Amino acid sequence: MEDETLVKEAFDDLLNHCKHSDKPEIRAFIEKAFLFADKAHKGMRRKSGEPFILHPIAVARIVAAEIGLGTKSVVAALLHDVVEDTHYTLEDIGSIFGKKIAKIVDGLTKISGVFDNDTSEQAENFRKILLTLSDDIRVIIIKIADRLHNMRTLESMPPRKQVKIASETLFIFAPLAHRLGLRNIKSELEKLSLMYKNPEEYAEIRSKVTENRIQNEKVIEQFIIPIEKKLKKMNYEFTIKSRPKSVYSIWKKMQMKNVSYEDIYDRLAIRIVFDPKEEISEKNQCWDIYSAITDIYQLKPDRIRDWLSNPKANGYEALHLTVMGNGGNWIEVQIRSRRMDDIAQKGLASHFYYKSKEHSQLDDWLLEMRETLKEPNTDALSFLEDFRLNLYANEIQVFTPKGELHSLPQGATALDFAYKIHTDIGNTCIGAKVNKKLLPASHVLKSGDQVEILTSEKQTPLPEWLDIITTARAKSKIKWVLKEQRRKLIREGEEELKRIFEKNGLVLGLEFEDKLLNKLGLRKKEQLYTLLAQNALSEKDFKDALEEPKKQSTYWSFNFLKKNKKDKPQASVFGEVNRKETLYLDEENLNNTYKIADCCHPIPGDEVIGYLDFSNEVIIHKRKCTEALRLSSSQGDRLIDAKWETHRLKAYLTVIRLEGVDSKGLINEITTLISKVHDVNMQALRFETTGNVFNGEIKLYIYHTKDLNNLIGKLMKLKGIKQVRRSE
Ligand code: MN
Repeated sequence: MEDETLVKEAFDDLLNHCKHSDKPEIRAFIEKAFLFADKAHKGMRRKSGEPFILHPIAVARIVAAEIGLGTKSVVAALLHDVVEDTHYTLEDIGSIFGKKIAKIVDGLTKISGVFDNDTSEQAENFRKILLTLSDDIRVIIIKIADRLHNMRTLESMPPRKQVKIASETLFIFAPLAHRLGLRNIKSELEKLSLMYKNPEEYAEIRSKVTENRIQNEKVIEQFIIPIEKKLKKMNYEFTIKSRPKSVYSIWKKMQMKNVSYEDIYDRLAIRIVFDPKEEISEKNQCWDIYSAITDIYQLKPDRIRDWLSNPKANGYEALHLTVMGNGGNWIEVQIRSRRMDDIAQKGLASHFYYKSKEHSQLDDWLLEMRETLKEPNTDALSFLEDFRLNLYANEIQVFTPKGELHSLPQGATALDFAYKIHTDIGNTCIGAKVNKKLLPASHVLKSGDQVEILTSEKQTPLPEWLDIITTARAKSKIKWVLKEQRRKLIREGEEELKRIFEKNGLVLGLEFEDKLLNKLGLRKKEQLYTLLAQNALSEKDFKDALEEPKKQSTYWSFNFLKKNKKDKPQASVFGEVNRKETLYLDEENLNNTYKIADCCHPIPGDEVIGYLDFSNEVIIHKRKCTEALRLSSSQGDRLIDAKWETHRLKAYLTVIRLEGVDSKGLINEITTLISKVHDVNMQALRFETTGNVFNGEIKLYIYHTKDLNNLIGKLMKLKGIKQVRRSE
């Protein structure tokens, strides 16, 4: 087809979708904008090769037909690329089309510039977009339409650009569309973004959805029969539509919950839209219908969503519930009045502009935005964060230093992010720079954060990482590496044992091994191998252990070695505990005659009490431990008096918490004091900084409360430390 015919047809189609385009003056105004833009863009072509003017026409068509905005918006949409791409100026537009239109076009031109910038300043750039919200919301709506058309024609872009544009769309435009209640546009933006960002996953889910369609339709058909019957009996005028979940929302759920397609139980959904009866509130009628449905089907109690009492921020009102269909499928039911449905479909934005001038939630929101923008010290990141919190609650987006976007679940840490980028980066992560600030890998990220992961070749995954990771994928990667590490240690230890035996002319046999294990107080060969590989046992230790012991309680340099008293059988002696007598807590009998409670971690020096549990084990609690108090009030007869009788052979795990003002080198001072000066073993350490206040948690091995108090006293003297206390 000739270019001219193509353009004419597109424009006629646009006119058909414009409100009041039968009025000559309105028609003339739109035509004038079209002719002006056509002349301005003359000779320009899009990447696809088609005449450029088709793009502004398409954007104007979206604005008119899919969003429902009026003539001014249509005209502004037709002109939206003129100032940016041609030699015409804003003044030209102002003098021909008036100030209002010029202002909208100005806003659109400014936003456009934002996206041509390099991505590293993207947070600031997004803020600039949002700033335009305070001028005229039509700017942002037309921009969304512009982006929608660009997404629809993304195919002609090079792949690298496709991913960048799709990421931006997902990051800012889809949430904006959502916030403005442009439901259909939001869904389409999400769908297109996913198609370009994760084409394989998109195709896979799509094919599964298609595969299940016919079967699902049958299920729904059966499901609605009794509902229809009942609602008719209740004299309702209504329509019921099946509403298959979108590919994107299925994908998102799979990501967030880390489940497979098959595990998503609310893939099936119906929507009931009713004409409300007079004199009863719409809300009450929704609940009447709810109760009718739950009379028929079994309700899933944790899946009720009441957006009647508290409408969503974008104005959405409805009642959602999930029930069990006859075939054993969970089916979501959405209940809305005709009016609620109208808002849900078209969005408050258009509602707001041409339907009424009444005060809406959108007004409140815009007002809030304006207020925030007036604040002189809002920085781009916190602004963006607040803004996005408003949009989606359960997902965060963070940037790499190069400005690439990554989505993570809320609560994700820098370590999660490291694994998200690459497994090797996760495995060697030693910390992160978040917004240029040095922070530990456990730091919880916020939307808009720019995160640079710091790595070291010497780093390998640690068991405590499992506590600071939230994404399941990263968790399984860490577990795998830890398992491999253990296997390797065991192999190495086994080799080492052979070597020692050969060197000493001994024959390795079961007998020897058992003897060794028994002497060392270990239960499994694997433990022995691991200790050997970690150099936790020296050759001398072995010889000593194999010789008949002359003296008991050899000093083992490693505190995790458990030793048995010479003549005591290794079998449980818990049963022999005399409840009436004081139990003396000799460290050699730890985990033999008694165990340390996980809840309060008592150490020698603490006042303690024992509790004989139902598997006949004595658990040692601090006297003031709440769990011990609970036990003493309910099962006083199982309590046992206990006293420490220690010889500083065993250090016990203790947790201390620190609070202070972050200053350069402080963390280093703390760790030096603990490890070098006091020669205390640290098991784990975690620091979090908020502003310049930091909170730290250190797990360390302590022999006695005296040592602990001594250490705490020294720590308190460090400059910048505000509080140090033992964690209960
Ligand atoms: Mn454009």
